[in-house]
Amino acid sequence: MILVSSCLAGVACRYNGTHRLVDKIHNLVEQGQATMVCPELLGGFQTPREPAEIVNGTGEDVLLGKARILDRSGNDVTDLYLLGAQRTLDMARDLQATIVVLKEYSPSCGGKMVYDGHFSNTRVVGEGVTTALLRREGFQVISEEEFAATCE
Ligand code: SF4
Repeated sequence: MILVSSCLAGVACRYNGTHRLVDKIHNLVEQGQATMVCPELLGGFQTPREPAEIVNGTGEDVLLGKARILDRSGNDVTDLYLLGAQRTLDMARDLQATIVVLKEYSPSCGGKMVYDGHFSNTRVVGEGVTTALLRREGFQVISEEEFAATCE
């Protein structure tokens, strides 16, 4: 089973109430080959919600307790992100996911880059907290861009 970000399958669960539909990912869900997950909703957030960014580090730093995740108003929402990551890991284990396709740039789902914590639309190298946890536990996580490349 493939585990995919819900927003990539067309669910409007992003912080601003939008999705990032990728037709091929939606089709996998329709065909029963993929299961959707939104770590932030699993962590207890609702849609819409304030955007949040990792401050002073990456998802791995958050797991290590060295960085926090703040929303744009400055509220510390790290614990909800960690809960969502843990619940996503539980899902991946239950499903025995062979591969996980998560949305690039998200503080939860990013695989190669995330925003820099200043809400200035600047990206830095790093992964989201859910991606970091899944990779730490041995799951292969790729972005929608890498997934598209495998389909070409
Ligand atoms: Fe999409 Fe992941 Fe953000 Fe949920 S947490 S909206 S699945 S990028």
